[in-house]
Amino acid sequence: RRDAHSKSLQQDRFHHRQYSSFTDKPFISVIVPMYNEEAVIEICHERLCRVLDELEQVCEIVYVDDGSKDASWELAQQFTSSIHRVRSIRLSRNFGKEAAMSAGLQAAEGQAIILLDADLQDPPELIPEMVAQWQAGFDVVDMKRKQRHGEGWFKRFTAATFYKLMNQLSEMPIPENVGDFRLIDRRVVDEINKLPERTRFMKGLLAWPGFHRTTLMFDRDPRLAGETKWNYTKLCHLAFEGITSFSTRPLRLATGAGLLTSAIAMVLAAVVLTKTLIWGDPVAGYPSTILVVLILGGIQLLSIGLMGEYVGRLFIESKQRPLFVVMDDKVKTEQDTKEEV
Ligand code: UDP
Ligand code: MG
Repeated sequence: RRDAHSKSLQQDRFHHRQYSSFTDKPFISVIVPMYNEEAVIEICHERLCRVLDELEQVCEIVYVDDGSKDASWELAQQFTSSIHRVRSIRLSRNFGKEAAMSAGLQAAEGQAIILLDADLQDPPELIPEMVAQWQAGFDVVDMKRKQRHGEGWFKRFTAATFYKLMNQLSEMPIPENVGDFRLIDRRVVDEINKLPERTRFMKGLLAWPGFHRTTLMFDRDPRLAGETKWNYTKLCHLAFEGITSFSTRPLRLATGAGLLTSAIAMVLAAVVLTKTLIWGDPVAGYPSTILVVLILGGIQLLSIGLMGEYVGRLFIESKQRPLFVVMDDKVKTEQDTKEEV
């Protein structure tokens, strides 16, 4: 049945594929965002080229230097390949991985693109498998982590909690434990590139268009060298961004909390009033008063803060600033490489 499914997908896609085989667009574009990755970037290029050479098609590698302060850019702009096109883009400062990936997605010309981390946590050796799934007719190949090597229990716990919360809140499911490593067909990339928002929660944006999707399982390796660019503050920020840019349900929760406290207040008012009328009012109730004040104050501040988050989002979106600024953009084709040699 699965064969039949993939065959029907193939027929579905036939027109599209036939068209693209007439263009001289690269077969696959691999986008590698990097920030201070001088320790790993050369090994990354080597391993990536070895894998792409096996595909026997002209591919494209797009390095996006996200304002590195080390030698990453100097290294990346010298990379060449005897077969593939190597493009290196340098952003004018550190804009964050989400922006670097957006820059890569806009620059890439391949018929499908693959997002790959420079630190080799996502093994490039899996690319042929991903391409095979793509050629079987799937538009997006999500790579799901079987195990998170080199990550402590706390990171794993917080990650799991985040996905659960996110999927409870957002109207559109975001696949759990799927990082940015994935293959995306050109027609889906075009849709993603059309999304105008400034706050780029890529995990959500990449899942947003839908299309035919499949998931492969893989073991995520520990980082080869260097250290992670994420700390808990940044992760918290990302989590908040994810939730507020894909769901307005927290606002409804605030409304719900307001309704609930009003209901409780009504009941309490009736009780207190009756009690006072029947038994009089011996001056008491400091604890209950202070409790009510504190609880209500807490809920109110929380709701205002929540609203502020969304208003802040609006503010950022309304400024319409570009997502990133490109400072350098170099392309090396197969010919250039030959001339240099
Ligand atoms: N990265 C980037 N800009 C940043 C931070 C990270 O381009 O501001 C790149 C980084 O070089 C790496 C990828 O994003 O290729 C993933 O980063 P990292 O390994 O630090 O994240 P983790 O794998 O720990 O989630
Ligand atoms: Mg990493």
